[in-house]
Amino acid sequence: MRKLTKREFIKIGAMGVSGVVFMPGFLGGCRTMPKVTVPSWVWYSGGRDEKKIKKDLRFLKRSGFTGIHFQGGLEQVKTASSLAHDLGLEFHVWVISLMARSAKIVKEHHDWYMISREGISIADHPPYVGYYKWLCPNKTEVVDYMVKRVEGLASMDHVDGVHLDYIRYPDVILPVGLWKKYHLVQDREYPQYDYCYCDDCRRKFKEQEGVDPLELPDPPKDKAWRQFRYDSVTRLVNRLKKMTEKYGKKLTAAVFPTPDIARKLVRQDWTCWNLDAVFPMIYHNFYEKDIDWIEVATREGIEALHGRYPLYSGLFVPAIAPDKIQQAVDFAMKGGAKGVCLFNFRGMTEKHWRDFLD
Ligand SMILES: [Zn+2]
Repeated sequence: MRKLTKREFIKIGAMGVSGVVFMPGFLGGCRTMPKVTVPSWVWYSGGRDEKKIKKDLRFLKRSGFTGIHFQGGLEQVKTASSLAHDLGLEFHVWVISLMARSAKIVKEHHDWYMISREGISIADHPPYVGYYKWLCPNKTEVVDYMVKRVEGLASMDHVDGVHLDYIRYPDVILPVGLWKKYHLVQDREYPQYDYCYCDDCRRKFKEQEGVDPLELPDPPKDKAWRQFRYDSVTRLVNRLKKMTEKYGKKLTAAVFPTPDIARKLVRQDWTCWNLDAVFPMIYHNFYEKDIDWIEVATREGIEALHGRYPLYSGLFVPAIAPDKIQQAVDFAMKGGAKGVCLFNFRGMTEKHWRDFLD
């Protein structure tokens, strides 16, 4: 009889344990723990239950994970980073960057927020959803605020890095897979979704190019105006990189799936950023693509980066059938990724874990 592979052994073994919450410990007959097959990261939202956080972190370490992007309050960050440090799990604090929905910031710093091409503050009339309130990266106060936040985290003893998310403009065009949900057709850049036309942006662009962006014949078509906004985010990221470097820490970012899509939809020119690693959110279903698109999108990023820093393909777990998760990983690796990052820990069902770990 053919000897079973470890994967088959686990799968067969698992059939008899329905109802058991999956943790590798139940595999009593299996001497080695099932582990990840490629360098793996996960986006993890902490919550308040520290016992659970500790249990999850130990599970991730035992499963061979490289690192974790952790979102949580300062106390949770302290506890979790200290444990991750002891375990040897790389720990980055996951930061929601330019999207600032906090009522306190809206109230105290209303003038930090972006202005649309229609002249309306995003703080007053956010597009798509009520919380979509974004800070303008061209304001000194916003840059200082971000630098201070990043410094506060990078200076923490057991934090290995800072992970920037929402480091971009709001979507001038939503991913096509979301149009139906919001009852939209975004075949071009419409003024109510187009940012930022605040006084600072207009002044800075005029100083640079000699024209007010509001006076351009067709702002969406203007190459210099597009480039100005790419550069606004790039400049901020590179400034934050200097801050993390000062503390000997890393800077990574979650970005839109390919360089072209990122520039077009949210003004992210991420292949020009100074980072230690990038985590494109290759959420195929958002773009009405099949799972094999993970390979195509990964390759586009890899080719544009020219080896400047590693790329980990972000996988959207809820859109991947449990028995297809390993296939998604294979597509990412075929595209040239250094590894993968799961969105998110909670989305992983018992069946996903069985397929993912080998
Ligand atoms: Zn602005």
